[in-house]
Amino acid sequence: MTNVSPTLEKLHDKLGACPRCTFCKWVPEVRSQDFAEICPSVHHGKFFSHTAGGKLIAGYALLHNRIDYTPDFIQNVYSCSMCGGCDTSCKTLLADAVEPLDSLYALRQKVTADGHAPEPLREMLDHLRTLGNPWGLPASMRGEWFRGLSLKQTQTDQAPVLFHVGDVAFDNEEWPAIRHIASEFERRGVDFIIGGVDEPDSGGLAYDIGDQDLALNLAQQTLAWLGKSGAATVIVYSDDVFSAFRNIYPRLGLSLDPIKVIHIAQWLAENPATVAAGQRRDTVTYHDSCRLGRLGEERLPWEGETVMAYNSIPVRVPEGELYLGVNGVYEEPRQLLRAVDAEIIEMERIREFAFCCGAGGGGKQASPDFARAAARNRLQEAQRTGAEFLVSSCTACSRYMKEVAQEAGASIRVFGLIEYLHARQSASASDASHKAGE
Ligand code: SF4
Ligand code: SF4
Repeated sequence: MTNVSPTLEKLHDKLGACPRCTFCKWVPEVRSQDFAEICPSVHHGKFFSHTAGGKLIAGYALLHNRIDYTPDFIQNVYSCSMCGGCDTSCKTLLADAVEPLDSLYALRQKVTADGHAPEPLREMLDHLRTLGNPWGLPASMRGEWFRGLSLKQTQTDQAPVLFHVGDVAFDNEEWPAIRHIASEFERRGVDFIIGGVDEPDSGGLAYDIGDQDLALNLAQQTLAWLGKSGAATVIVYSDDVFSAFRNIYPRLGLSLDPIKVIHIAQWLAENPATVAAGQRRDTVTYHDSCRLGRLGEERLPWEGETVMAYNSIPVRVPEGELYLGVNGVYEEPRQLLRAVDAEIIEMERIREFAFCCGAGGGGKQASPDFARAAARNRLQEAQRTGAEFLVSSCTACSRYMKEVAQEAGASIRVFGLIEYLHARQSASASDASHKAGE
């Protein structure tokens, strides 16, 4: 299997077709000046060069040897979370005349292949190659979260459902939430297995950083492992992995078919837990993560070429789908919050037009100031709603926004979705047992 992602050279005409309209800077539906941007990169950098359009023009100039690698250029390419907001805005207004996200992936691939990826990201790629995770932690740590639980594992067992945990296995603060899901499966009689130390990295982060060969290799390992597991359904805990399966694998020409992929929020929404009546009602604002939202939209593999119509309009042959991010997972997390009696107060930028918190795509490691500026802007927007809680399905988002909220002294309390549901249910159960003992 070869990688079918378009190279920067193949995207040459699309790069040249960008009229520098700057639509990729803004949400298509602006509600206020404070939260009009969709691109965290330009929010931080301020100049057109920081927009997707600016990065595309730089890629075009690079192909024509009109610019060379400079620290500023590299910093600009990686002051970006690969959130896809630019792609959604550009295509909402201009259809597929330009391909911002494909071009950003291709630009990073070239920068990485030419040996210019920033040092922290090169280290992450090395760790992925040698240890199978980007954090430089021992692979055996994937087996820690379920210590003391007796769960079926892919090393020795098979089952119709595979619970894919992802990199949260390396984060001990997430372990109670993951264990909560395992016990929910057991409580509801689901016959499931986990990967434990056998679970490979999905390859999504390697693709985001720009090493598409490594991404392809990890994705192939994942597919081989899934195939051996005997599972017909994979329930995915991590938004990053969900996005890798639905957004990155098709770009690599791979598919999980016939294995069905669902996110844990979708599975829970089919059978939501509730809380006892009389619980205090929380006010919650929900942050749509890019990876569950617009980049969680299912793509179909596409292979073809771009030809110029009338010598000036790039056209894809054969014609491909137009992905606007509208088919991401938006409703189920909200349903789950309502089921535990939370009152949702929406931010201005939601669903496919959500503003990224800056934590993804290697942007946080390569350009910490960029990521912090994005998270602070998102926290301001969340606080403007007046909600007490900010909840996100993505543990990378919730973990990072917690950190930045603490730094900034923000009063809003940040939770991961499963962490929040678990806390609400535990509080409800403890209230009920107090009442029963009265
Ligand atoms: S990438 Fe799209 S939205 Fe951005 S400047 Fe180019 S054409 Fe306009
Ligand atoms: S992927 Fe996100 S951060 Fe990067 S240029 Fe596009 S909108 Fe900006």
